Amino acid sequence: MASTLIRGKYVITSPKADGSDLLTDGAVLEENGFIQDVGAFEQLRQRHPDAKEMGGNQYIVLPGLVNAHHHGNGLSPLHLGVPDGPLEPWIVQRMGSKPVDIYLSAAYAAIKLLQSGTTTVMLNQSAGAAARLDEDSQAMLGGFRDAGLRVCYSLGYRHQNRIVYEDDATFLKRLPAEVSRAVQVILDAGHIPADEYFRFYDRIIPALTEERDRVRVAMSPSNLQWCSDGLLRDIKAYATSNKLPIHMHLLETVYQKEYALRTFGKSAVAHLADLQFLGTDVSIAHAVWLTEADIRMVADSGTQVCHNASSNLKLQSGIAPVQPLLSRGVTVALGTDSMSLNDDDDLFQDMRLVAQLHRNSGLDSTAPTADQVLTMATVNGAKATGFEHEVGRLLPGYRADIVLLRLDRIAQSPIDEVAGPVEALVYLADGRDVDTVMIGGQVVVQDGRVTSLNREEIAARLKENVSQKPTAEEVRKADVIAEVIPYIKEFYREWATYDLQPHYRYNSRA
Ligand SMILES: [Zn+2]
Repeated sequence: MASTLIRGKYVITSPKADGSDLLTDGAVLEENGFIQDVGAFEQLRQRHPDAKEMGGNQYIVLPGLVNAHHHGNGLSPLHLGVPDGPLEPWIVQRMGSKPVDIYLSAAYAAIKLLQSGTTTVMLNQSAGAAARLDEDSQAMLGGFRDAGLRVCYSLGYRHQNRIVYEDDATFLKRLPAEVSRAVQVILDAGHIPADEYFRFYDRIIPALTEERDRVRVAMSPSNLQWCSDGLLRDIKAYATSNKLPIHMHLLETVYQKEYALRTFGKSAVAHLADLQFLGTDVSIAHAVWLTEADIRMVADSGTQVCHNASSNLKLQSGIAPVQPLLSRGVTVALGTDSMSLNDDDDLFQDMRLVAQLHRNSGLDSTAPTADQVLTMATVNGAKATGFEHEVGRLLPGYRADIVLLRLDRIAQSPIDEVAGPVEALVYLADGRDVDTVMIGGQVVVQDGRVTSLNREEIAARLKENVSQKPTAEEVRKADVIAEVIPYIKEFYREWATYDLQPHYRYNSRA
């Protein structure tokens, strides 16, 4: 049976918050898509004389990274002409963007993820129109399947408060009659009855079970303000009976925090606790505006958090209290939300951002260690995407999702020997250093280039697709959306004006 011995100057076998397990001049043996043996290179060479060899002394070998929150977009909104800005108007502005070919966008996203060392993704697709659910999901899954990525697929669903955080009909009354009618048409076109959402899952669960090696399924109510309590209960019940994890956005902005306080008289987390929604099967993306009491509830319920540092900075959402979450023992994974620091989905850059963003001031304050950050981007991400104990570590029995990172650029000094290889890769590496990526034993990146798809061809087709002149209807839609934006800003004017006590201390005015 064909097997491969993958050798590294360092092999990070098991990322751990309190110090990762690693081997110097180590190797892992891949056979049949799984890791069969791990140890010192010389011993493995003797034990497996017929295995072909890959890697060597100039590489760090590490588990493939896990991006635990992504929307499958190959081009960011910025690429498509919607500049970064506060989430609430920005998300509506995006509704006015020209639609992009879903397959090409997904394939391009997958290529960028692979080339920067990501092997597993929480693929959270935003539901489009009811009639196209199957077609759209097949297009997105197709892009990732063709690239060879491992995914947890979830379809984000919402059915209320879609323009601002109040009833759609009530908000429409704030608009001039003509604009209101035009917005109603846009909302109707995107309306999906809740029954359709569950029927969609009835169809994809058996279909995707056949791809279980590569694909897992999760449910995804988009966010608290966008889903009724009844819907949240139904999703929880459906997910529980089908043994599916749940992935949702929560408390991304201060306005979402205030929505819960205004609507339920308590925090969003407290309300979800009342609904018996929280639990080890749930991962929440963002979680920026948690109170101390919320953090305790998240920790006590075993709910996971996915931290999206770059997205939260770009959309002026704030900084999630990652240090308080970690100190309570919450499992924190990392995601880029299709809004990474450089709009390129390079999780190495986002790991570095996370390592540096949470350095609160003062000699006594703690900062995340490189080991903690790597653990978030591997082991914790594996848990959030339904691949716990299958990916995220290089141990016998795990799937062979492996990255070979070239040391030449990052180790121009003996930094890897002095600070340690985990520090070197978190503080210095980026996607340029990724040489080879293997997923389930298949090489999908070689010499830094994706082998499963042709990057240049996909990029050219995508560019052609987004360069097409918008139709008259698309122009009208963009014009309508532009007219709504000032009303959205006006709507939130009185929100979140109370005194906010920050978790972190950055400066002071008194
Ligand atoms: Zn998101």
